[in-house]
Amino acid sequence: MFFFFVGGVEQGAGRVLKEAAGRCLRCGGTADLVETEKALKLFFVPVWRWPGKDPAYLCRECGLLAPGSLGAEPGPSLLPREARCGACSRAVDPQFRFCPFCGSAL
Ligand SMILES: [Zn+2]
Ligand SMILES: [Zn+2]
Repeated sequence: MFFFFVGGVEQGAGRVLKEAAGRCLRCGGTADLVETEKALKLFFVPVWRWPGKDPAYLCRECGLLAPGSLGAEPGPSLLPREARCGACSRAVDPQFRFCPFCGSAL
């Protein structure tokens, strides 16, 4: 049963989006970020429900498939923290050292 389950997940998991992108929630092993469209169908009793196009983390060590939102944050989807100018309160790029609108030092 266990081996059947693991084999099913490996077959069903979509292509790897990013290798070693996160860590397994259960064993702490290296997990790849994979597409989940096909993998969802392999669960007889789905533990999680999430949109099929969302990526998930597939553990290389124990085969655990976890929704991406529960694993380590995928870097590209994290927006840089919004910065605002202290003088004019307009949103500015956090990397700027001076406000492009009013010229104040940030
Ligand atoms: Zn694991
Ligand atoms: Zn400003």
